[in-house]
Amino acid sequence: MSHGTALPLSPVSPGAGEGTRTHCPYCSLQCGMTLVGRRTTTVQPWAEFPVNEGALCRKGWSATGLLGHRERLTTPLVRDRATGEWSSATWDEALDLVASRIREVQAEHGPDGVAVFGGGGLTNEKAYQLGKFARVALGTSQIDYNGRWCMSSAASASTRAFGVDRGLPFPLADVEHADVVVLVGYSVLVAGGHVDDTYIAERTTGWEAVRDAVAAWWPERVERVTGVAAPELRALADLLASRERVMVLTARGAEQHAQGSDTVLAWIDVALALGMPGKEYAGYGCLTGQGNGQGGREHGQKADQLPGYRMIDDPAARAHVAAVWGVEPDSLPGKGRSAYELLDALGTPAGPRAMLVHGSNIVVSAPRATHVQERLESLDLLVVCDLVMSETAALADVVLPVTQWAEETGTMTNLEGRVILRQQARPVPDGVRSDLDVVAGLAQRLGSPIEFATDPEEVFAELGRASAGGKADYAGITYDRIRDEQGVFWPCPAPDHPGTPRLFADTFATPDGRARFHAVEHRGPAEVVDGDYPVHLTTGRVLAQYQSGAQTRRIGDLPDDGAFAEMHPLLANRLGVADGMPVTVATRRGEMRLPARVTTTIRPDTVFVPFHWLGVNRLVNDALDPASRMPEFKVCAARVVAA
Ligand code: SF4
Repeated sequence: MSHGTALPLSPVSPGAGEGTRTHCPYCSLQCGMTLVGRRTTTVQPWAEFPVNEGALCRKGWSATGLLGHRERLTTPLVRDRATGEWSSATWDEALDLVASRIREVQAEHGPDGVAVFGGGGLTNEKAYQLGKFARVALGTSQIDYNGRWCMSSAASASTRAFGVDRGLPFPLADVEHADVVVLVGYSVLVAGGHVDDTYIAERTTGWEAVRDAVAAWWPERVERVTGVAAPELRALADLLASRERVMVLTARGAEQHAQGSDTVLAWIDVALALGMPGKEYAGYGCLTGQGNGQGGREHGQKADQLPGYRMIDDPAARAHVAAVWGVEPDSLPGKGRSAYELLDALGTPAGPRAMLVHGSNIVVSAPRATHVQERLESLDLLVVCDLVMSETAALADVVLPVTQWAEETGTMTNLEGRVILRQQARPVPDGVRSDLDVVAGLAQRLGSPIEFATDPEEVFAELGRASAGGKADYAGITYDRIRDEQGVFWPCPAPDHPGTPRLFADTFATPDGRARFHAVEHRGPAEVVDGDYPVHLTTGRVLAQYQSGAQTRRIGDLPDDGAFAEMHPLLANRLGVADGMPVTVATRRGEMRLPARVTTTIRPDTVFVPFHWLGVNRLVNDALDPASRMPEFKVCAARVVAA
C-alpha cells in the first residue's frame, strides 16, 4: 500500500515555470492552475489550459487555504457512542474495527446490510474503485452518490433523447461561437413555422406527438403558469428562429424538480425542433455542478450502473466487467436504491445497517435533512472518510482522514467530457491516506477474492479496460496522453483514437442513430402554495461557497456571512421586515431563522435561501422525479414571518 508517502511530484510541461500543473478542487469547469511550492503552496495561472486560459474565480485563487488547515484531520478517530467522546486510533486499529463491524452486520443482515455513499467530487479512480469495492468486496447492491442530487435529471433526459449522457456534447469553447445561448425555460416556435423540417425528418423520431402536445400551450397560457410575459416568449422564439447557431443549456434551476427530467426533455425538444444538436457551435448541453459531476457518474458509483455507463442489469455488461475484475458475473449484485431512497431506508428493517461515506456531507446536502440525520443516527455503524470534521463526520463511529486534491494524483472529467489530470503538488500529510488505500485495506481485511490497486495510474488503466466498449469509453486514454494533449475527450476507444470533442455530428447514440423527441406534460411542483404556506421556497448557491461548504467555509479569504433569506421588497413590506432583520422560514418539514436580504431581482412570491450552510435542506421537499430520482430541491411551499 502507498499510504502516507510522498509520491514523486509530477513533471511540469516545458514553459510552465516552476510548479505543478493541476486543476481546481471545486466545480465542473476544472480550471487549470499551477501550484508552486511544496510547503507553502501558491496558485499561479496555467495560461495555456484551454478551458479557463489562466483565469480563475475567487474560489480557485484561494483554494490552497485548505492545505495545511488547522482543522485538517490527520489521524483516524473512533467515537464512543455512550459518551460521545472521540479517541485517536492507528490506521490498523481503525480499519480492523471497521472490517470486524462490517462482518458482524453482514452476518446478521446479509450483504445489503452495508451501504456505500460516494460523491461527485471524487476522482474517476476513486469512484470506479468504490463501485468495484461495493459489488465485489462487500457484495452489496446498496451504493449511490450525491451526484444523484446534482444532474441526474439532465443525465436521464439526455440518455432518453440522444442515447448518451455527457454534460456538454461539445467543447466549452463552442459557447462563444453560438449566435444565441438560451440558459433555461415553447410553443410559439411551431406556430411561427420556425422548426427545421428536414432535420426532423432525417435525424429524429417522435416529432408528431410533441407537435400535437405543444399546440395546447399558447403564449398567454404559458404566461399564466410561468409568469414569463407572452411578448417575451414570442420575442425569444423569433430570436431562436432567426439565428443559425442556437445553444440551449440547462442547469440545476431547471433540473432539481420532481419533473426535472421532463423539463430537460422539453428543452431538448426545442433544440431538436430547431435542428441544432450535432451542428457546430450549437445544440443542447447541461452545465454540470460538482468537480467530477461528469466522471463521477460514469464508472459505477450509481446504483444501476457499471463502469463505462454500462447498465448493471445487462447480462453482456456484467460479463464484460466481471471478466476485467476477475470474478464470476453471477457474483455481482443487481440494482440498488437511488441516493435519497438509500438514505431513507437506513436503519429500517429492510434497509442497510451500516454505511461508508466518501466525499459527501450528507447532513447538509440531503433533502429533508433532519429525517436523513435521524436515519444516519439509527445505523449500527457509520464510517466517514473526509478531510475535516464535517457535519456528517461528526455523527460517525469512525472517521478516516483522507487526501485532498493537491496531495494526490487522479483524473477528473469536466463538464465537456474532457478527462483531465489533477497532479500531486504537495506531500501527503503524516497520518493521512487516500480513499484508494482505505478501500484496499478494507477489502483485504474482508477477505475480498481480488486485490484492489492503490496506485491511481494503475487503477485508471483498469478503469479503461472496464469501460472499453461502453458509451463512456476511456480505453485509449492514458495519463501521458492527458498531460500531452491538455485532456482527452471521451469516447476514446483506442490509443490512436483522437478522442471525441463533439458528439452527434453524424449520428446519435440510440439504436437507430436518431434522436428522440419526447412529448411531456406540465405537472407543476409536488407541493403547491396554500393559505398556510403561501410563498415558494427555492434554494441555490452563492459565488464564494461550494456545495455543503465543508471546504470553502473554512477558507478565510472567502466571505462567509452565513445563510440569508432573499426576498422582494413587496414581500418584505407585507411581512414588516427590513433588510437584515431576522425572519423565520418554515415548511411542512421544519423551520429556520435567518436574516432577510431584500432585493428586487427575485419574484415577490418566492424566497431564496442558499444551501451551503446547515439548515435549508431540512426544509426542502423530498419528492422525487420518477425517472431520475432527483429530489425537488428547487421549490416547495413555505411560510415566512418576522422573527
Ligand atoms: S470554482 Fe470552478 S470556475 Fe472557480 S476556479 Fe474552480 S473550477 Fe474554475
